[in-house]
Amino acid sequence: MSKIILTGDRPTGKLHVGHYVGSLRGRVELQNSGKFDHIYIMIADAQALTDNADNPEKVRQNIIEVALDYLSVGLDPLKSSMFIQSQISELCELAFYYMNLVTVSRLQRNPTVKSEIQMRNFETSIPVGFFTYPISQAADITAFKATTVPVGEDQAPMIEQTKEIVRKFNGTYAEVLVEPEILLPDNKACLRLPGTDGKAKMSKSLNNCIYLSDSEEDVKKKIMSMYTDPNHLRVEDPGQVEGNSVFIYLDAFSKTEHFGAYLPDYASLQELKEHYMRGGLGDVKVKKFLNAVLQEELAPIRERRKHFEKDIPEVYQILKKGTEEAREKAAATLSEVKEAMKINYFEDLTMIQEQAKRYSE
Ligand code: ATP
Ligand code: MG
Repeated sequence: MSKIILTGDRPTGKLHVGHYVGSLRGRVELQNSGKFDHIYIMIADAQALTDNADNPEKVRQNIIEVALDYLSVGLDPLKSSMFIQSQISELCELAFYYMNLVTVSRLQRNPTVKSEIQMRNFETSIPVGFFTYPISQAADITAFKATTVPVGEDQAPMIEQTKEIVRKFNGTYAEVLVEPEILLPDNKACLRLPGTDGKAKMSKSLNNCIYLSDSEEDVKKKIMSMYTDPNHLRVEDPGQVEGNSVFIYLDAFSKTEHFGAYLPDYASLQELKEHYMRGGLGDVKVKKFLNAVLQEELAPIRERRKHFEKDIPEVYQILKKGTEEAREKAAATLSEVKEAMKINYFEDLTMIQEQAKRYSE
């Protein structure tokens, strides 16, 4: 069986370092591993509109931001098809048919949807489109017969929902759809990177992000004012590393060689953590180290972004070509789906002949 990746992001803002460690960095590795037959990367604008219906301009503007972020981290249009969700109407058709296979109560139990409804104060007025976005996401994944979906931890309930739809569809109609597997980052700190304010998730909607496109000075400023351990007031005080965003970022980004280069008094992150917990290590020193580590990672990304920013029409061409490639695959799957569901009337010549025979008897 082919090995196919489908993953994506909502164009609700620029991409941040949470996206990077949670998903983008892994995608680039998978892309360059050569182990996959096809990689589809989707800019989920139709999904973004489910909770931004009154703000289409925001979604439109962020398409190019997300595309530039993709190209800057090293996603390569020759190896991955990058496409725009709304331009593939087959995805809506699939979602429409899958709606018959899911109950309202099942959607209500989806923990990610539950917490997102709360976050957006939608409790009393949930847009139907938003409520059903897990079904639309199942359509996106299955349209490409994706076997692997590399995403952050918050997406696990969506993959579960997709698997259920696949089983229900294949059991009811015919073995057409493929059950996908979620691929989470190995590093625990990358599953759900907290915000610079210490909140549980760095999120475009929460204003607590370090963006991949932030300038060197902005990154430094954000790091220097980051949330740490609120009880670590004086340098001599013992500090906590758990729940401390600065240390969680170091877990996500630092490598042993960074200590030799930027903080040679310590051999490893473990040593640095032990000193912090014992007391006698100030936040500023740790933050400066984090800044050096992050700047090293972000510098080449920033450079590549500058290069692609010079030819924006070319970036749209890349998306157009990727969309054409993706559409071909989605159309092929939709046609199999319609055949399995017996709604392929005009293609089914045997059926037409049988009906004709029945009426001529
Ligand atoms: P929004 O607030 O509009 O939902 P978002 O910041 O949550 O935006 P998405 O586009 O929903 O971003 O998520 C894109 C991908 O990045 C998903 O795979 C998601 O799991 C992952 N992701 C998002 N935020 C984080 C984070 N803080 N840590 C790790 N992974 C993340
Ligand atoms: Mg999200």
